[in-house]
Amino acid sequence: MSADPAKTASAVRYADRRARATRAVEEAGLAGLLVSPGPDLAYLIGHEPPPLERLTLLALVPGYDPVLILPALERPAAEAAPGIADVELVVWADGDDPYGLASRTLGPGSYSVTDRTWASHLIALERAVPDATFVAAGEALPPLRAVKDEDEIRALRAAARGADATFADVIQLPFVGRSELEVAADIDRLLRLHGHRSVDFTIVGSGPNGASPHHEAGERTIEPGDAVVMDFGGVGVDGYCSDITRTVFVGEPTPEQLRVFDVVREAQQVAFDAIRPAVTAQEVDRAARAVIGDAGYAEHFLHRTGHGIGLEVHEPPYIVEGDETALEPGMTFSDEPGIYLPGRFGVRIEDQVVVTADGAERLNEASREPTVVA
Ligand code: ZN
Ligand code: ZN
Ligand code: ZN
Repeated sequence: MSADPAKTASAVRYADRRARATRAVEEAGLAGLLVSPGPDLAYLIGHEPPPLERLTLLALVPGYDPVLILPALERPAAEAAPGIADVELVVWADGDDPYGLASRTLGPGSYSVTDRTWASHLIALERAVPDATFVAAGEALPPLRAVKDEDEIRALRAAARGADATFADVIQLPFVGRSELEVAADIDRLLRLHGHRSVDFTIVGSGPNGASPHHEAGERTIEPGDAVVMDFGGVGVDGYCSDITRTVFVGEPTPEQLRVFDVVREAQQVAFDAIRPAVTAQEVDRAARAVIGDAGYAEHFLHRTGHGIGLEVHEPPYIVEGDETALEPGMTFSDEPGIYLPGRFGVRIEDQVVVTADGAERLNEASREPTVVA
């Protein structure tokens, strides 16, 4: 029997990720990294169990093989995970004390714990391992998943293209006389048709609702003359997220709507042009903010310019004043400035981008021209 080369390559990739995480733990002077179900566990061993009251916990401790503590019923799924080779399984049965098992694996010291670990698990660990202290990984370690490899970028691009195709389809449908919720239902259906395994969020903000950046979708009936902000995304078939925003006009836009649209589009482009290795995340935010400020709308740009994207739809780096992350090739994040005029309308344009060796590339290709719908 010969080993399947694709399988071996994938196992090596997960082992490399664990080695990198373990090095970061050592450099931070910590005793180990504890990973509960969520994007970090998927990233480190390719196993995606649901987060439950039963304890599943990966322990990366420098100098030891990785250990996965898991309930017996999850063993078959864990053994099938692409990154499970070299991981020692510690299986517990219902009725056992998994925290007692954990205490035999963990020595004294300070452990970083992934941010999404449930409080109930962490508090039980604190009781079971009295010599250990715990800190949030998001505070104690540099972000593990910010720089994407080629396969990850391919997966993000595929998800982005599915979101692009969804936008291209939805603007063919009628808007006038339908509710935001009806348009949102079409977007959800189209995302799945275009290669998404789940839908995370669907914002349809029409007219004055578009001036609230996180207005989801409601019962308001869309009218002629509305600007409609559509911001949607989900998880593509490979587990990586999409997130796109386009603002469309129901009938010909007014000169003011068009002016605001042009300012946002220019801010989005100027931010994009600022992206290159070694530039900091906050400098990209400043580039977008300068365009909107110069046009007189500074106080109407209510949020940061962007957020990282990958296995999570919002993850580091954050494109915001104060984030001094130096951009590196392979980092992926959104470029999504907006202007919000209370009681009237809003405009936001969002693409996902990847940092390249000498600049950036958009993962989304949907038109950024003003679009009129019926
Ligand atoms: Zn958001
Ligand atoms: Zn978005
Ligand atoms: Zn976004």
